Amino acid sequence: MHDYLEKAKYKDLFLKLLDVGFLVDVESNVILAVNDSCERVLGFTLQKVLGRPIGDLAEPSYRDELVQGLRIARRRYYPREWETRLIAADGRVVPIRMTACAMEIGEGEKVIQVLGRDITQERLDQDRISQFILQLSSANTKLEALSTTDEMTQLKNFRFFKNTLEAEHERCQRYERPYSLIFFDLDHFKHYNDRNGHPAGDELLRGLSDVLMNQCRSTDILARYGGEEFVVLATETELAEAVILAERLREAIDKQPFAFAEFQPLGKVSASIGVAAYPGDGLTAAEVLEAADQAVYQSKANGRNRVTVARNSAQVKIAKT
Ligand code: GH3
Ligand code: MG
Ligand code: MG
Repeated sequence: MHDYLEKAKYKDLFLKLLDVGFLVDVESNVILAVNDSCERVLGFTLQKVLGRPIGDLAEPSYRDELVQGLRIARRRYYPREWETRLIAADGRVVPIRMTACAMEIGEGEKVIQVLGRDITQERLDQDRISQFILQLSSANTKLEALSTTDEMTQLKNFRFFKNTLEAEHERCQRYERPYSLIFFDLDHFKHYNDRNGHPAGDELLRGLSDVLMNQCRSTDILARYGGEEFVVLATETELAEAVILAERLREAIDKQPFAFAEFQPLGKVSASIGVAAYPGDGLTAAEVLEAADQAVYQSKANGRNRVTVARNSAQVKIAKT
C-alpha cells in the first residue's frame, strides 16, 4: 500500500483535486502554488496570486481567522477545518470550508497545504431550509389561532374554552383561588332568524360578540359556547364581582341598537344570563358550568333579559345576609 503512495506524484494529486488547493510558505503565508480548481472556482491562476499572502484573498473580517488557522496548522500534525469567505478574481464572495496542514516537501523544507471546499450550494440549501422552517412555523401559529377561534364571531371557540376551563379549574383548586362563569343565551333568537333571515341572525351574533368583547377585561376568556350561547370565564373573580360584570354585559346588550331589535317579542335584543362561581357552585368544572346553565334557565323562566345567580351561590348569599 505504502509503495503506491511512494510512487504517486504529489503534483498530479494536488492539481487534479476537486477542492481548491494552495501551497503557502510556512513563515510568511505567501502563495507558492495553486491547483486547477483554484482557477475553476475562484478564477485564480498562479500568475495572479503567486507571492501574495493568502490572507489577502479572504474577506477582511475573515482574514485574522484564516491567518490564525494557518498558525495552528503550522504546529499541529493533523489538519483542522473552519469556514471562511474568499474573494474570487471577479469580486464574488465564495464561502469555503477550509483545512490546512503543514507538510514536509523535501529535505526539511516545510509548506502549508491549504484545501478548500466551495460550499456556496450548501449555504443556499441551508438558507432555503431556514426560510422554509420560518414559513412553516408562521403557518403553524396561524393554524393554532384558527383552531382556537370561532370563525363567525372571532371569539374563542368551545374547544378552547373547555380546555382553558379545565386548566383554570385545576389551578384554582391547587391554589384555592376563585373563578366565575357567566353564561348567556340570546332571547327569542329563533324568532329573529325566522323574521329577519339567517344572514341577519349571523350578523346579530357578530355584533353581539363585539359588544361582549368591548365590555370584558383582557383576563376574561370570552367564548362562543355554541349556537346563540356565549360564556365568560372570569379568572380570579368572586361571585359578587362576576354578578356586577354580568349585569353590565346584560345592560350593554339591552342598550345596543341592533338591526330589527324592535321586532323582537321583548321589543329589543336581549340575553338571559346565569352566573356561577367556584368553589361555591361546584367542586368540578362541569358542576360549576351546569350551575351557570341552570341559572340561565331560571332567567328564561322569570321573563328573560335578566341575570340569575346559581342556586347554591344564592343560598350562600342569603345565608350570609
Ligand atoms: P329562547 O329565548 O328560549 O332562548 O329562544 P330561542 O329562539 O333563542 O332558542 P331556541 O333554542 O329555540 O333557538 C335557537 C336558535 O338559534 C335556533 C337556531 O337556528 C339559531 N342558531 C344557532 N346557531 C346559529 C347561527 O350560527 N346562526 C344563526 N343565524 N342562527 C343560529
Ligand atoms: Mg340556546
Ligand atoms: Mg336562545
